[in-house]
Amino acid sequence: MYKKDFPFFENSSVTYLDNAATTQKPKEVINKVVDYYTHFCSNTHRSNHGDANKATKEFEATRETLKTFINATYTKEIIFTKGVSECLNMLASTFAKEFKTIIISSLEHHSNITPWHMQGRSLHKGLEVVNVKQNLEFDFEHFEELLKANPNSFVSITHVSNAFGVTHDIKEIARLTHKYDSYLLVDAAQSLAHFKVDVQDLDVDFYAMSSHKTFGPTGVGALYVKKELLEKLPVYQTGGATINDVSFERSIMLDAPYKYEAGTQNIAGVIGFKKALDYLNNITLKKVHEVENELYYYLHNELKKIEDIVLYNNTKNAIGSKSFNIKNINSEDIGILLDKMHIAVRAGHHCAQPIMKKLNIDGTIRVSIAFYNTKEDIDIFIKGLKKAIMMLKD
Ligand code: PMP
Repeated sequence: MYKKDFPFFENSSVTYLDNAATTQKPKEVINKVVDYYTHFCSNTHRSNHGDANKATKEFEATRETLKTFINATYTKEIIFTKGVSECLNMLASTFAKEFKTIIISSLEHHSNITPWHMQGRSLHKGLEVVNVKQNLEFDFEHFEELLKANPNSFVSITHVSNAFGVTHDIKEIARLTHKYDSYLLVDAAQSLAHFKVDVQDLDVDFYAMSSHKTFGPTGVGALYVKKELLEKLPVYQTGGATINDVSFERSIMLDAPYKYEAGTQNIAGVIGFKKALDYLNNITLKKVHEVENELYYYLHNELKKIEDIVLYNNTKNAIGSKSFNIKNINSEDIGILLDKMHIAVRAGHHCAQPIMKKLNIDGTIRVSIAFYNTKEDIDIFIKGLKKAIMMLKD
């Protein structure tokens, strides 16, 4: 029903179930990017002519829309970046750098692990990792133990696991984090497109978002920063458009958010991102969540019927990504055969090698759903999977 809004599906015969890697874009997003380059391509926040003013206005309109989308309090709490990886690197190099201990979960994407390693931290040397329980659930007891032993830490946790779809109870994580005088950054790469987010209700300090995982253009993201922390967040990079006044003696920065947005931004991408958010607002996140929940449950039940399947989590508190293995078959071999059948999934470690190591596996096959997918897509996938298994078992 929704696929007609996405030109990709008109032009491709692929059954696309790799939405955790990136999502398809509705035509409004594509048209807006083309519109910018065709009709008012100009720089933002610099020149004062008509097209430049229009570009600036539309650029700032995305900030306003995103603010409302996540229920931030002020537009200046939204800083544009290249994506979640840049948000995490920015905080690791600035605000979080001074903390003695960084606490992450076992289910983190490499983007929330390697920036900490780059600072010379490693396990139990400035970096602590919260255990996972059975079904890959977050171990709250272990988390509180870590916080008790390391108050005033910086906690950096994913909202939804890209590898398994497991969803963390961020509200409870925030409550405990603040109880021990610590700060919370949440990686929202896999949450923003799937359910309604309210940063005030969750009480997060930082929320890192990605446009391309949310039906918007690639190379764009945003970091939400709670207003009172903007005072404490050092500038990451400087240059054009971050500066109020410069002499050879000194630089005086603009206020937030501009002092954090150095150089010419991905203007077309930011403007296009608004169209993705408008599109989602139109459908409503409630509907998106409902459709995806049903598909997730359907997929889980169909997978359960397959002989020798190994599933890692149940459907409770999970959304988007579903990972599995077939005993004695390499996940990447299945991925290659599915590709030949024009079924796009991801096979391998999904940029989450540490959890794969913990589970003693090289990787998994990951099916990742968006609201435009259908039961027919899942039926095609299951049929393809059975065929691939038969070929590999022969
Ligand atoms: N964190 C998670 C959980 C992700 O899934 C991804 C993308 N695969 C990232 C971070 C990196 O996001 P981006 O591509 O926006 O840098």
